[in-house]
Amino acid sequence: MVDFDPHKNNKETVDKDFEEQIRPREFKQFAGQDKITDNLKVFVKAALLRGESLDHVLLHGPPGLGKTTLAHIIANELDVGMRITSGPVLDKPGDLAGLLTGLETGDVLFIDEIHRLSPVVEEYLYSAMEDFTIDIMLDKGPGARSVQIALQPFTLIGATTRSGLLTAPLRARFGIQCHLEYYDTPVLLQIVLRSASILQVEIDTHAAQEIASRSRGTPRIANSLLRRVRDFAQVRGSGKIDNAITQYALDALHIDKRGLDQMDNKILSTIIHKFKGGPVGIGTIATAVSEEIGTLEEVYEPFLIKEGLLQRTPRGREATQLAYEHLGVLSADKNNISLF
Ligand code: ADP
Repeated sequence: MVDFDPHKNNKETVDKDFEEQIRPREFKQFAGQDKITDNLKVFVKAALLRGESLDHVLLHGPPGLGKTTLAHIIANELDVGMRITSGPVLDKPGDLAGLLTGLETGDVLFIDEIHRLSPVVEEYLYSAMEDFTIDIMLDKGPGARSVQIALQPFTLIGATTRSGLLTAPLRARFGIQCHLEYYDTPVLLQIVLRSASILQVEIDTHAAQEIASRSRGTPRIANSLLRRVRDFAQVRGSGKIDNAITQYALDALHIDKRGLDQMDNKILSTIIHKFKGGPVGIGTIATAVSEEIGTLEEVYEPFLIKEGLLQRTPRGREATQLAYEHLGVLSADKNNISLF
């Protein structure tokens, strides 16, 4: 069996060279999300015209949809520097102070997973975002005193997969908020073709279309699948990515016709076979499939809901009729599940 988990193909494990090579650098290379990019272009241009820093930006949506990429593009189009960090890494106010005081006028500070900031660091961010000042404590004990330090105006770009976990005061400090949606197949097709041309791999349109349609609406997954299919084409085929080798590779990777992977299918089949189709609590599902609740909520569930395979009810998660059909289970008659 081939071990393929595109969701784990995140910033820690991905081949960085590859990411850097194919990551769009300008708005015009960024496919889809037209409403968001149209607005961002206006705000960036207005900031440049006024010679001011761009207002703080919050980007939210499922993983792999282009939040980090957009942050890079914004910094690039503003022609400013960008410092990158993430919520869990900034555990002491001192870490944040070090980053903020190192920023030059107009620079971008990108904080990934901003919902995971510790409350004390978050408090420090408030004055930094609002007044471009930060209070630093000098010394400890009775001699402790706080000194206010002025910062250069900067733009904070926060990215989160869980905007619901952001506190209201933090969220209110972002003047620009964008929700990224899953991509349509035609847009993913453009992304696959662009990546293939950067990688200088020959691919026919049918094959590219197949990869695009099985990518869970997610550019990161489209790019990962492209790389894996390229491996199969080189080792088992002629080197060119055609429809036959693509079908072969996607089957070997256990990516089904709808683009669902093994975990997606395991979640649906667990709900149907172990819990009579639901409703069942997310914690119970997580235990049954040996996955974390957060990962189910952030990564798997949004796509299954979007595809109409799963629904959230006040009493828990429920498999839809479509999910039964997808798994080849005859009916949603909960007491008598039978296979086609
Ligand atoms: P996120 O930060 O939302 O998890 P990333 O910005 O890291 O996602 O995007 C993952 C990969 O997908 C990047 O390597 C990037 O090249 C590609 N990508 C994302 N969005 C687009 C897009 N709209 N057009 C082209 N490539 C994209």
